[in-house]
Amino acid sequence: MSESFDVVVIGSGPGGYAAAIRCAQRGATVGVAEKNFIGGTCLNCGCIPSKALLASAHTLLSIKHAALMGVDVASASANWAKMQARKDAIVAGFRKGLTGLIQSHKVKILPGRAVITAPGTIKIEAEGSTTQIQAGKIILATGSEPIELPALPFDGRTVISSKEALGLDNIPKSMVIVGGGVIGCEMACVYAAVGAKVTIVEALSRLIPMEDEWVGRLIEREFKKLGIDSLTSQKVTSVDTATETAKVILESGQTIEAEKVLVSVGRRPVVDKETVGALNLGMSDSAISVNDKLETNVTGVYAIGDAIGTTFLAHGAFAEAEITAVNATGGDEKIADYSLIPRAVYTFPEIASIGKTEQACKNEGLDVSVGKSFFKANGRSVAHNETAGQISAVRDNATNRIIGVTMVGSMVTELIGAARLLLGSTEKITEVSFPHPTVSEVLKEAAEDAFGLSLHNPPKV
Ligand SMILES: Cc1cc2nc3c(=O)[nH]c(=O)nc-3n(C[C@H](O)[C@H](O)[C@H](O)COP(=O)(O)OP(=O)(O)OC[C@H]3O[C@@H](n4cnc5c(N)ncnc54)[C@H](O)[C@@H]3O)c2cc1C
Repeated sequence: MSESFDVVVIGSGPGGYAAAIRCAQRGATVGVAEKNFIGGTCLNCGCIPSKALLASAHTLLSIKHAALMGVDVASASANWAKMQARKDAIVAGFRKGLTGLIQSHKVKILPGRAVITAPGTIKIEAEGSTTQIQAGKIILATGSEPIELPALPFDGRTVISSKEALGLDNIPKSMVIVGGGVIGCEMACVYAAVGAKVTIVEALSRLIPMEDEWVGRLIEREFKKLGIDSLTSQKVTSVDTATETAKVILESGQTIEAEKVLVSVGRRPVVDKETVGALNLGMSDSAISVNDKLETNVTGVYAIGDAIGTTFLAHGAFAEAEITAVNATGGDEKIADYSLIPRAVYTFPEIASIGKTEQACKNEGLDVSVGKSFFKANGRSVAHNETAGQISAVRDNATNRIIGVTMVGSMVTELIGAARLLLGSTEKITEVSFPHPTVSEVLKEAAEDAFGLSLHNPPKV
């Protein structure tokens, strides 16, 4: 007789493992199928390895700036092999820890490719053997893959995706990054810091185009200081990899030579075609369609994370996992406001935002006031020589409440949780005490400024 579970989750990335553990905590018997490594994209070739490399790169830059802090350091250089080894060890450690954590919750790990063959029935294919299992409810958390451009097909050697970019054997002398979004800009910082000549080519008019315009402009200026060239409003039409150094050809006719070409133009949801066919699963392009309870068109089959193409963020997947875990175990929850899921980019300097951007407010015709505060006017930021950037807070004048915060600056991804709590604040924010001197004062000051109550900004004329 085939094994049976109350809930089977397909995919063990942030969405999948979180849903599996939460279902188990709610008393269900749970299996989680994984065809690759436990932890999914985020742990194995996404959030964690990229942040490990960024941290090494940031350390190197800090040491190079030591003289400005009155510290003489003879020299500093990247030991790429050690940076890679450190990153791999971090990933391996978390993978082991996560495997143990999942098992400690009595969730059964089902290694192999899982395909739903009929509602409630799943086959698991692993190393030549196929087993069949039964599931009361199924949660699809199958993730995403890098989008390939027809003119620049991945060859895994010269034209690469973020996966290969995280594990190059050597620091390339030069790299063209096609796409100035989150992943492209983060990898640009890593490689520029360790000495590669990096050029970003972005088709839209600015880097990080989903954020307010000032963000892209500021980041482009800061990137210039790192030696990163940003070619915006430019398209790559083809790449010639016949010679050792690739020739990247732009629509303008310009040719850039580069040892590596990283194509980072976004990610596309992934779901097994066999599953889609067997269930007649409703799709919207490559994303699985779901309702506000994250249930697909097939009763008892839910989908979350990158596979539904909502946030393409690990914590977006976590948030969706919470909802489906409740719904798959007898509850009735709906997904809340996606704008309350923070957005974070770990560039030098970092970018973070939550709620509505100024541009989104404009598009909606909202009457808003925007408060600003700058790191160069903050005591702690100056002490740390981390003065680039600003925070802007958007007040809805109709409700008199803060509805959005956008930040660019050192470690602002650590401040965005506080900004989340600030959403909905009124001018009473002036009464909240923030420690002095801290970088967080810039956040308070921006919110105060949105009410015309900033202490340290000059009066607006
Ligand atoms: C370079 C990079 C950096 C990133 N940095 C960040 C960051 O800093 N912060 C952030 O929030 N997000 C980041 N992301 C995005 C983040 O990794 C994803 O949003 C997140 O991993 C999505 O989680 P998920 O559970 O939906 O899918 P995934 O993590 O992709 O996991 C899906 C899993 O399902 C498995 N699977 C698929 N099909 C099957 C099947 N048929 N049978 C069995 N198993 C299957 C896959 O093997 C995979 O392990 C980054 C992504 C990349 C590429």
